[in-house]
Amino acid sequence: MNIRFCGAADGVTGSCHLVTTERYKFLLDCGMFQGNKKNEARNRLPFPFDPAELDFVILSHAHVDHCGRLPLLVKQGFRGYIYCTDATADLAEIILRDSAYIQERDTEYRNKKNKRGGGWTEPPIYTVNEAIETLKYLHPVLYGSKKEVVEGITICFREAGHILGSSSVEMWIKEKDEQGRDSETKLVFSGDIGTFNRPILRDPQYIDEADVVIMETTYGNRPLVTRRDNLEELSEIIVRTVKRGGTVVIPAFSVGRTQELLFDIKSLYEKDKVFADAMKGRKVYVDSPMAETATEIYKKNAQVYDEESRDMLLRGENPLSFEGLEFTRDLFDSQMLNKNKDPKVIISASGMCDAGRIKHHLKHNLWDARNSVVFVGYQAEGTLGRYIADGTEDVKIFGEMVHVRAEIYDLKGFSGHADMDGLLNWLAAIQPPPRAVFLVHGEEDSKKDFAATVEQKLGIKAIPILEECSVNIAEELSVKKGLRSEEDARLEEIMDMRSRLADIHRNLEHILYVTQLSADDFTTEARIRDINDIILQLEKDTLNLSSVVTDYDVNNRRGANFEDAAKTAGEDTAEGAENTAVL
Ligand SMILES: [Zn+2]
Repeated sequence: MNIRFCGAADGVTGSCHLVTTERYKFLLDCGMFQGNKKNEARNRLPFPFDPAELDFVILSHAHVDHCGRLPLLVKQGFRGYIYCTDATADLAEIILRDSAYIQERDTEYRNKKNKRGGGWTEPPIYTVNEAIETLKYLHPVLYGSKKEVVEGITICFREAGHILGSSSVEMWIKEKDEQGRDSETKLVFSGDIGTFNRPILRDPQYIDEADVVIMETTYGNRPLVTRRDNLEELSEIIVRTVKRGGTVVIPAFSVGRTQELLFDIKSLYEKDKVFADAMKGRKVYVDSPMAETATEIYKKNAQVYDEESRDMLLRGENPLSFEGLEFTRDLFDSQMLNKNKDPKVIISASGMCDAGRIKHHLKHNLWDARNSVVFVGYQAEGTLGRYIADGTEDVKIFGEMVHVRAEIYDLKGFSGHADMDGLLNWLAAIQPPPRAVFLVHGEEDSKKDFAATVEQKLGIKAIPILEECSVNIAEELSVKKGLRSEEDARLEEIMDMRSRLADIHRNLEHILYVTQLSADDFTTEARIRDINDIILQLEKDTLNLSSVVTDYDVNNRRGANFEDAAKTAGEDTAEGAENTAVL
């Protein structure tokens, strides 16, 4: 068996691992790369395998960094089943539709700008229709039920306690070993591992045995912060902020984090008198159309709730609603929130502030010292959220500099990811210890530190995956690096350069616009004309550059790329030896 780590290898996003057995090829997740422009450009790169050759896909959960490139897979010829839990199938529908809608809208905006300047245009990565087409291939499987998906490969989903429907996956894979004897390898993919005692969700389920484990390490070096401490802190922040007439802005993923926050805030209204008094007559707004739909899906999937939430439902109470809660679906209501000066709480998406309505709320609220911004989830490197959480003094939002005067809090206990101890306990429960543990889905330090902790505390060798690479699971494990050909690397640079150029172009247009607006009596017409000319020339130059870049045809690279992939997926050859390490 060979595992190629195609995504979430050098970061936390783009989860995608290709498993090649004697007879089959399948994927674990097929997520979007997110964060900065370079990562986003990676979504347009060809897959390092032919999607039409895949037999099936296993989807661990519905977050976009795990499912976001599925439509691309179908668009490029994949016709097998995508196995996942029921709730994941429900949530994947809204997430993929939303993701496609964002692609369409962003591409249209970019194309319009580029076309006006005589530059390049390109289709969206995938359309809403292509996302809908993908839903046909989703094939739900109940938690805990073993299913033989092809002859010799059986899978089983276990609760991962990360978002509704999230799972770790057990796979029993029958193959012939090197001596030609029948053998079975149990592969376990952790998915994203959640925390214990979260609202609504059941606790992560431990897996009792495995030969080979692929596990996430988002917080591989982060010590324990309890949710309860953070909930008290959230209560205090909200009370302080509304008392001084401010607004609390909470960036949160529409799916998962928002519903858990609603559950928590409901409990504060009921159990925390100081909070209930301070918030009397005030509103908690959830400003994200997707969050409302996701909340409906949460309500509908009560069969996978934890006991506390199920009991609430049985008592006739809704764990996700309370007086004072308001969803704003349309754009007008969303804009009105920023005109409304009443102290309030606004929960909005995206969770890492790189897109969506949250950017407007930050622009309108960050500059005012009465307000607070509270992060409740992981902020990936390069995102607007990460800059703010790290304490930057000025940020640029929609082309405008905003000076940060609001109070900024980062409450890590709300995170949907297990901390170091949580990950360690999950791994320690696998007995006897697995033969190989591969660490993915984390930043470099986190993976390296966790590998050291695992070795020291559990005596197991864990291998941090730091770049796209493949491993041969045989008696002797060997890792092969340097899979990305020079051409791949060049392609990535080109995609990156292209999106930077588009950015420069947009900024230039903005400068032009501002220059015209700020013209006053002392600015002569001739002066404005000069500035115009300079900017137009700069625009022309960037467009010329981008057309050079675009001449490099990404789509024509696809065929060649499969050959590379086929080559690298094979046995280690002499020329690859320097990149191959036997473990
Ligand atoms: Zn996730």
